[in-house]
Amino acid sequence: MDDGRDAGRLTVIGGPMFAGKTEELARMVRRAQIAGREVLTVAHTLDVRYGAGVVASHSGVEIASRSVDGPAEIPGLVGPRTRMVAVDEAQFFGPELVAVVLDLLDSGLDVVVAGLTVTFDGRPFEPVPALMALAETAAKLTAVCAVCGRDAAYHVRLPDADVLPGDALVAVAAHVGGTDSYQARCRAHRRA
Ligand code: ADP
Ligand code: MG
Repeated sequence: MDDGRDAGRLTVIGGPMFAGKTEELARMVRRAQIAGREVLTVAHTLDVRYGAGVVASHSGVEIASRSVDGPAEIPGLVGPRTRMVAVDEAQFFGPELVAVVLDLLDSGLDVVVAGLTVTFDGRPFEPVPALMALAETAAKLTAVCAVCGRDAAYHVRLPDADVLPGDALVAVAAHVGGTDSYQARCRAHRRA
């Protein structure tokens, strides 16, 4: 009987912006590397916040990465010694990421995916919700509400003019090629 040992494990880290998703992804990548397992970390070319070649958290944690234009490019970056594939900002990859991840798992690789579960207007944001449903392990993280300090499962987009001076650093860090800024918000404050 096939004992299933050849298939990989899927771990998904979801939540709103500022929830610590990238910090957790980096922690898992570092643990695998300490165990001597080669990790391929993948970012999307749309994520231009910190430049190509690095995945970075809002708190300054960084890991080396390869940038791709879409999910179809990921399998081609897997080398003979790769044991784990880590994908950050999964929402940039679109729903096609799901089939690619399932193929990587079937080929024996462990996969860790981090990304937004919600849009800035409070709707589920695929593919992370679907991947969470299919994962061996799924962590739903919360940020801190920028208004009241409660657990924030949402984030909102604010015009730059609405951002207070004290929020300037957060605004710069969250900036993704546009003129908008983002704040984590709890349920009561989820409407900007
Ligand atoms: P994500 O990838 O989920 O956007 P990061 O891992 O990049 O999150 O950053 C998490 C870090 O962001 C926290 O450890 C904290 O230092 C910082 N941070 C800034 N604003 C907030 C907030 N509103 N809630 C929680 N953490 C925040
Ligand atoms: Mg992140």
